[in-house]
Amino acid sequence: MGHIADEIQRIHRELETYGAELVAVSKFHPAESIREAYGAGQRIFGESRAQELAAKTPQLPADIHWHFIGHLQTNKVRALMGRTSLIESIDSLHLLQTVDRESERAGIVTRVLMQLHVAAEETKTGFSPEELLDFFSSHGYESLRATHLCGVMGMASNTDDIARIRADFHAIRAVFDAIRDGAPADFHGFDIVSMGMSSDWRIALDEGSNMVRIGTDIFGPRQY
Ligand SMILES: *Cc1c(COP(=O)(O)O)cnc(C)c1O
Repeated sequence: MGHIADEIQRIHRELETYGAELVAVSKFHPAESIREAYGAGQRIFGESRAQELAAKTPQLPADIHWHFIGHLQTNKVRALMGRTSLIESIDSLHLLQTVDRESERAGIVTRVLMQLHVAAEETKTGFSPEELLDFFSSHGYESLRATHLCGVMGMASNTDDIARIRADFHAIRAVFDAIRDGAPADFHGFDIVSMGMSSDWRIALDEGSNMVRIGTDIFGPRQY
């Protein structure tokens, strides 16, 4: 068995204890690497560019669940419709509205996560905790017609400071809990907390993640 399959099985075993799911982040890696992971039982893959996703999907098994995890420009939304099982990176209301409009136009329901920004870097995108809590407490989701809000996604600061990483994940989980606590009883299916990457996924699980997005640990370094 190759390195990729080994890693997939090792991570699956570890995640089982937490009831967490693995998104194998395959961006910049070839279809043959994805096939090896698929052969080891992996079914969820993460991509960050609409064009790359569109090029890869026809070459690979139809029962793969593709997650979009990158910054999504509104002019790329239409090309993505029907190709993803989850868009994890909704980082603005404008993008959310565009996804909703295009989903309705395509006659589908798109599942999404709201991306939270808690990290130190300004370059990372997403809603601040206050913005996201406001959106939910003002029932901003009620105008959505073809979008299912399934949870939140976030990244920790890019630092060696374990305490800061832990605090970032803690903050993401706290926003998720506050949204759920404040939600009306008929608000269903908001249950995903996607956090943790190669360098920090064990900390994320510790802080209440139920979906980790791992690329480098599985596929090796990316060649950009
Ligand atoms: C690339 C990427 C990952 C995976 O990063 P690794 O460090 O390779 O595990 C996870 N999440 C997002 C949003 C990404 O863009």
